[in-house]
Amino acid sequence: MQVVWFKRDFRIIDHAPLASARRKGAVLPLVIDEPSILFADDQSLQHVHFREECLNALKKELLTLGAVLHREYGEAVAVLEALWTQHPFTHLWSHEETGNALTYQRDCAVQAWCKTRHVVWTEYRQFGVVRRLKNREGWAEQWDTLMHAPAVPNPGKLSAIILPKPLLPQIPKLNAVVDRDRAFSKTQDKSLRQKGGRQVAIDLLSSFLEGRGAHYSKGMSSPLSAEIVCSRLSPHLAIGTISIREIVHAIKNKREELDRLPLHLKPKGMSGALRSFESRLYWHCHFIQKLESQPSIEFQNIHRGFDGMRETEFDSSRFEAWRRGETGYPMIDACMRMLSQMGWVNFRMRAMLASFSAYQLWLHWRQPALHLAREFLDYEPGIHYAQIQMQSGVTGINTPRMYNPVKQARDQDPDGVFVKRWLPELQSVPKDWIFEPWLMPPSLQARYGVVLDRDYPRPIVDHEVAAREAKQRLTVFRNASEFRSTAKVVLNRHGSRKLTSHASPIKKNNPQKERSKSHADNTVQGAFDFG
Ligand SMILES: Cc1cc2nc3c(=O)[nH]c(=O)nc-3n(C[C@H](O)[C@H](O)[C@H](O)COP(=O)(O)OP(=O)(O)OC[C@H]3O[C@@H](n4cnc5c(N)ncnc54)[C@H](O)[C@@H]3O)c2cc1C
Repeated sequence: MQVVWFKRDFRIIDHAPLASARRKGAVLPLVIDEPSILFADDQSLQHVHFREECLNALKKELLTLGAVLHREYGEAVAVLEALWTQHPFTHLWSHEETGNALTYQRDCAVQAWCKTRHVVWTEYRQFGVVRRLKNREGWAEQWDTLMHAPAVPNPGKLSAIILPKPLLPQIPKLNAVVDRDRAFSKTQDKSLRQKGGRQVAIDLLSSFLEGRGAHYSKGMSSPLSAEIVCSRLSPHLAIGTISIREIVHAIKNKREELDRLPLHLKPKGMSGALRSFESRLYWHCHFIQKLESQPSIEFQNIHRGFDGMRETEFDSSRFEAWRRGETGYPMIDACMRMLSQMGWVNFRMRAMLASFSAYQLWLHWRQPALHLAREFLDYEPGIHYAQIQMQSGVTGINTPRMYNPVKQARDQDPDGVFVKRWLPELQSVPKDWIFEPWLMPPSLQARYGVVLDRDYPRPIVDHEVAAREAKQRLTVFRNASEFRSTAKVVLNRHGSRKLTSHASPIKKNNPQKERSKSHADNTVQGAFDFG
């Protein structure tokens, strides 16, 4: 019996483990609901529900192959042992996973268990992430080779093993587990979050390539337009309802289609959008590689020279105000409120939220990271921890960027439409005051019906003063004697490299320019950037 373990790859196309297992014999498709992972600190109810929707879609896909998804509730080793005891199997198949410390420890335990039971566990790459990587030389070329190789086709009818019921005690309904464990007593599923399932992912990709994407480059930074013009594929990539390679291939097909069109019929903006979009798919793996190569970054600064900079100064009341969207800075608060209902906000606003918490509020990144992990439906540990550290200025290899929440509001939401949508209490405030309501004299507060501290909080810090102080404090650590040599080690391990000229598949439509332009992953001692 060939056991195919679906982890975060809920699809049947471009699924190498399934295709390979099928060639070896009868297949049991298995999914395990692991309480230690599903109910960990970085998870919330929206993740459980989204996963459930994706699982239901996977079940239907497997039925078309004549297979029934076998589902067990329990820790992975206990489930595999119970399965092996009743149906001794010789092979376990899955994709490689770069997750958090819990999934890493779980994988180590499974590996050890496989040894004792003489089970061969074969894992395939689904992202451009390389295990046991020494440094980034040649990494980009490997990414291209993997992504431009043919996708694994639908495996066709399976000789499937069907087990009538779970072997471990009956699976409790996940909602019941959630209620019982009170794991998510503080969170609820989000009313406006994206829905799960492969078809949803396919529809998103197609609507992006057929129209929405033309406005991608121009519209991705404003939270008003980003909601529509960004692909919104991130939660699907995180759970694997679609593979990154399928998307890369769809981009290539779209490019070829555009190349065949006469100039006057080419949709404006689409070629540039495809380039930016493909670059971001590359970044997806580039960031996850950082966690794969240095798992400690879930808990520790990437550049250890920043240890001790913020740890002892965590101000819980500031954290609570930030978390609840009550900082008194309308753009920050509106983004937090959007997140709490939608489970998504665009990259620029995520960067602003993280930077504001790290610089202006001087909060160590670990608690904010956990909060945002629960809030982001697309939570992907590799991207998440590397990004939050980058926005907190503790990587040592990126130019520290402090976002000014008032300037961002003026740039990205000039009429205050976004702020008013998510902060209805500021509905009647005209745009001249909406981003700095604390400047309104009492007479105007009375006229617009927004009394500070009653209807909307005053700023919890003066953002300009706080940013100046943060810069000074950061500079002390960046000027320390060992800083540069440690930064070079970090750069050698994680920094992106220029592509070599023989990497032909990427040379043709080279996203490298875009990669290095926006991905500033190569400045050992860059200047500060405010904005
Ligand atoms: C503090 C912080 C935390 C983040 N945490 C996550 C996370 O947990 N999961 C996650 O998927 N993204 C994360 N991002 C990156 C980015 O914000 C999201 O990938 C993006 O907003 C998702 O929307 P989309 O699918 O419409 O993106 P698109 O713009 O359509 O991009 C397509 C895909 O490219 C990848 N991508 C896009 N931007 C980035 C980026 N800057 N870095 C790495 N990959 C990228 C994602 O897989 C995304 O789905 C984080 C960014 C910041 C600043």
